[in-house]
Formats: sequence, C-alpha cells, structure tokens
Amino acid sequence: MSWFRRKDKNITDNSKKNIPSGLWLKCPTCSEIQYKPELDKNYSVCRHCEHHFRVQPSVYRDLLLDEGTFTEIFNNIKPSDPLDFEAEKKYVEQLETAQLKTKQNDAINCFNGQINTHEVILAIMNFSFIGGSMGSVVGELVSRSIESAREKKIPLILICSSGGARMQESSLSLLQLAKTSSKLARFQEEGGLFIPILTDPTTGGVTASFGMLGDVILAEPGALIGFAGPRVIKQTIGQDLPEGFQRAEFLKDKGFVDRIVPRQKMKDILSKLIEMLIK
Ligand SMILES: [Zn+2]
Repeated sequence: MSWFRRKDKNITDNSKKNIPSGLWLKCPTCSEIQYKPELDKNYSVCRHCEHHFRVQPSVYRDLLLDEGTFTEIFNNIKPSDPLDFEAEKKYVEQLETAQLKTKQNDAINCFNGQINTHEVILAIMNFSFIGGSMGSVVGELVSRSIESAREKKIPLILICSSGGARMQESSLSLLQLAKTSSKLARFQEEGGLFIPILTDPTTGGVTASFGMLGDVILAEPGALIGFAGPRVIKQTIGQDLPEGFQRAEFLKDKGFVDRIVPRQKMKDILSKLIEMLIK
C-alpha cells in the first residue's frame, strides 16, 4: 500500500534530521516547519499552503458535532480472524498492534449527534488502523449506521479514509462492498440523505462502494482519491498520467466529486446542505 504516500523531492534525509521530533512537523507540500500545537488549533491544516494533514477521528468528531450532543454507537463490535490469516505478520497480531495504537476496535468510529442542531449519524474512518482498510467490522458498522439513519430518518455523513478492502479477510472484505451498497440503495430510495466526505486517501474498495454513492460527494483539498494506484494504471495503459491525476481537484473537474471543502468550512457546508436537502 505504499503507492499513496506523498513524495516530496524537497525533503531529504538530512533535512528530516534537523527537525526535533514531537513538537515540530514539516509540511509535505510547502516544506514550512509547523509547530504542532499551532497546527492542532488550525485543525491540522497548514497555514501557509492549506495542506490538509491526516487526522484522527476525534478531530472530525469535535470539529463537526455540537458539543455535548453526541454518543458513540456500535463500539462493542470487535474484529475476528476467521481465516487464521498470516503473511509477514499474523493478522491477530496486526489487529492487536492497531488497537493499542489507536485505542479503537477497528478502522471506524460511529456517532449519533447533532450538526448545528440537525441530528445525524456520523461515521469516521481511521487511516491509522491498518490503512483504514475495510474488513467485516467496517462493513458492519457502515451498514448499521445506514440502518440507524434510515430508522431515525436523519442524514448519514461518512468521512472516508481508506487504502481499500482488507486483504487479511479476503472475500469477507469484498462482500462488504455489496452489503453496504445494497443498504445504501434502500436508504436512498426511501429519501435518506447520504453525504460521503473523501479525505486523503480514499482508494480501492471504499471508492468502489459507499465512497462514490453519495447524494452529494464532498472532498478535502488535495485528497488522493482513486481505485487502483497510479503506477498500476500507468503500466496498464502505457501512457503518462496527467498532472494532478487522482487528486480531489482533478476528480471535481471530471465530475466525480461535487465540491471541495476545506476542513474549517466543513461543518458550515454540511449544515447548509442538510437544511437545503431535508424537508
Ligand atoms: Zn504547507
């Protein structure tokens, strides 16, 4: 899954060594040095070039949901290893490491809460948990979020961040594409409002299912969005890829994304969309 990591030719091993770890970060786009507490205050968006750093689900939760209105839902569901999968590492060990690192059961958190007093279900994927990969638990929580939004007749907002289907669960992961897509079809047929927000990166099985099935599809600036990696596509078609290929702005130009919304404006835009689209 290394193909979606940003590469910046300006960052050399030497320049990295000069930066003290922890409190200081270097922006991968403009190379400006960032003071972490200041960056956090700005929702992890670079003040110089608007680069959107990847953030934990709690940042989106606190950014989007009205304070004191939300509860986490479906947080008792844990992943298992039905295939007893082992590659370089055992899958159960990968899960344990990711759970310790993120303090989450799996790569998604779901909340019932309010956005400027509008009740919503908000699901947030976490790229730090095995690359935000979609296995049985992510598929199940997305499905339950859809069902919950359908029963309550409230909008569903889903922040996507994923390297794709989780290979360690093989076809069980691929089943989640059909499961979530069919649930969404029923939700939308009944008039439900679904807004996915594509963040960096949104790729593979998530792009091939709920990521692209929104009534309105939003994306963060500069987010990598695609199905297969650019290297694979280049090898397959035997041509150089255009500039900005698979970035949010490119996808908006081609009609796959409706609007690019900076993180700081996300709550306001969601709130306006809900007011416009829900009777
Ligand atoms: Zn920057």
